[in-house]
Amino acid sequence: MSKIPFNKPPFLGSEFEYMREAIGSGHISGDGSFTKRCSAVLEGLIGAQKVLLTTSCTHALEMSALLLEIRPGDEVIFPSFTFVSTVNAFVLRGAKPVFADIRPDTLNLDETRLERLLSPKTRAVVPVHYAGVGCEMDDILGFAARHKLAVVEDNAHGLTGSYKGKPLGSFGCMATQSFHETKNFSCGEGGALVINDPEYIERAEIIREKGTNRSRFFRGMVDKYTWVDIGSSYLPSDMLAAYLYAQLEQWQAIQARRKQLWEKYDSALRDWAARSGVRQPFIPPNCQQSYHMYYLLFPTLAQRQSFIERLKERDILSVFHYLPLHLSDMGLRFGGKAGDCPVTERVSDQLVRLPFFYNLTDAEQDRVIEVVLSQAV
Ligand SMILES: *Cc1c(COP(=O)(O)O)cnc(C)c1O
Repeated sequence: MSKIPFNKPPFLGSEFEYMREAIGSGHISGDGSFTKRCSAVLEGLIGAQKVLLTTSCTHALEMSALLLEIRPGDEVIFPSFTFVSTVNAFVLRGAKPVFADIRPDTLNLDETRLERLLSPKTRAVVPVHYAGVGCEMDDILGFAARHKLAVVEDNAHGLTGSYKGKPLGSFGCMATQSFHETKNFSCGEGGALVINDPEYIERAEIIREKGTNRSRFFRGMVDKYTWVDIGSSYLPSDMLAAYLYAQLEQWQAIQARRKQLWEKYDSALRDWAARSGVRQPFIPPNCQQSYHMYYLLFPTLAQRQSFIERLKERDILSVFHYLPLHLSDMGLRFGGKAGDCPVTERVSDQLVRLPFFYNLTDAEQDRVIEVVLSQAV
């Protein structure tokens, strides 16, 4: 029997046709017609003022830190349970990361801890909608408004999800998306900066275009384009946008399949999980999730590791993730200590992600389920 990988990048088939069209159009650098089509789909999905495609979610996060003018000494609050880039993008500008623990139910930033982490230097909060389940945005936005802080949502997992009926990615002044090959929609490497506060649009276009006013020039708003601000090169090639558009155009089909796979895991494993002391994902009733991943929480690290090993022996790849950032080498340099974020520290030992991707076949999923059900925990 062949190996079941943990992830395969989504592939629909129409990617080739659109890439051929991009090549034929003679425009494969950034901001060609496919980039515009992708932005339009994303603006519609999120209800954003503006969506700018970027070379990665990491770069979109870097742009948000530049746009907020984060300076050395500023403090920014993050969950410790997240990918490195959420934090690194702000540290690159000199920010001191302040790590919040997560809620034991959704594994999202614990909004009840925010007040205690505030200092006169706090500038922003960056919630991550873990597994595409919305953070408690009412509380987070209330906290930010009371203390005049910016909110940037790291929405790498959350595209198409919503909180109290409002799309994830539409709450912060900005949000960021990822189209890395592990995400619901992908072009290998790619991302987007979602801008909800129009105040940031013009400068975002400049920063993304090497510090020039090229975007305004192309719209005929200035008669020459020149160097006007700091910036970098954050535009993806239109070839990548063509690949991505094939998937964004069919977002409903992709999401319908992911929902089906997610629900099958959840119902098929329910009794086994209850018997084994394994916890399944919790989706609060006010959240529509984005079906980004399927995870399980084991009672102990040893049980989690042995589960991953036994699946591997049966040619099924499952993975764990996020090591607590406050205890990473960099986190320790910023003063992180064991016990700062007890839920993060515990969950990091307990979590495992099952193979979960658009092109996973029913037969493959059935095999994963069968092997999981045969495991004694
Ligand atoms: C994938 C991911 C990123 C980084 O995305 P890239 O597009 O690879 O830069 C950032 N934050 C979270 C939460 C992610 O899952």
